[in-house]
Amino acid sequence: MKWLINVVLVMVIMIIIFPMVIIRSCGVPVEDEVLSNKPVERFQAEDEQRDFEVDLYIKSQNRLQRLPLEEYVIGVVAAEMPAAFEMEALKAQAVVARTYVVNRLLRLDKTGCSEYPSAHVCDQSDHCQGWIDQRAMEDKWGKINYYKYIRKISAAVEKTGGQIIVYDNSPIEAVFHSTSGGKTENSEDVWNKALPYLRSVVSDGEEKAPKFTDTKTFSVSDFISILERRFPSIKVDGKNLKDSIRLGEITEGGRVKDLTIGDVTLTGNEFRQLYDLNSANFKIKVTGNQVVITTIGYGHGVGMSQYGANGMAEKGSSYREILRHYYKDTDIIHLNELYSAR
Ligand SMILES: [Zn+2]
Repeated sequence: MKWLINVVLVMVIMIIIFPMVIIRSCGVPVEDEVLSNKPVERFQAEDEQRDFEVDLYIKSQNRLQRLPLEEYVIGVVAAEMPAAFEMEALKAQAVVARTYVVNRLLRLDKTGCSEYPSAHVCDQSDHCQGWIDQRAMEDKWGKINYYKYIRKISAAVEKTGGQIIVYDNSPIEAVFHSTSGGKTENSEDVWNKALPYLRSVVSDGEEKAPKFTDTKTFSVSDFISILERRFPSIKVDGKNLKDSIRLGEITEGGRVKDLTIGDVTLTGNEFRQLYDLNSANFKIKVTGNQVVITTIGYGHGVGMSQYGANGMAEKGSSYREILRHYYKDTDIIHLNELYSAR
């Protein structure tokens, strides 16, 4: 009788319990139990984040390259900010660069770079944001400095990994520029689009910036022929040019909103482009046969000033303080939080 019980026991183990063990360990992943305890949406989001890739158009090679998000951010920081800048400024730039492209990646209309529609961004700093590869970094810094700077920039990107700037739980339009000239601009004064986080703020510590001020000199006839190419029917008195130029309103950040020359009125930005000026914060002086244009600042002046960010970092501000200064009422969150809150 005892042997019969033993045989039955062995059969029960063989037929019922053993297959259960096998199935439990290879058919049903252990993680599924963990997964089921968390909101499904969050996990879908993390999957998406792991896969975040940027389709970058490299203009000089006329080709598209797909890059993991964080790798792309390293190339942007290397292209856009001097590597000798303070670590906290580089970290601020890394978060800005990441936010800029995540905004593109999440756009509901799926539009990317307007010049190269199949790419999220191009590598041109005057169109999307700059990006360079390893060879360009070596050319820029020299082989001796390459390892020092790439380590520094990689650390800035890694220490802020996945972090983006949000307003109302959406990634902001993280625009930035080199040098504000002392005060940044309200977005509507530059692009006719008022965004609550792109407000004019004081930007101290920029005086060391190489393009804090600049001067361009034209002969009166060259100055007028540039105008005539753009406005063929313009009426302007070359003999009395000084009295023909009238600066209009000045923006909160100190840039020229509009000006009138002869019978033509143009915006400060149009004038900046026409004469290839560093900024729309300019003064025009006509003396004898010369027109001298002095500019303050470099770039459009909206959002973070890179030299201002470095100035803040030198005085001990953290990257979070820098970003909250230049992007009003925003928060810095991890991409995961962005999704889980949606
Ligand atoms: Zn572009």
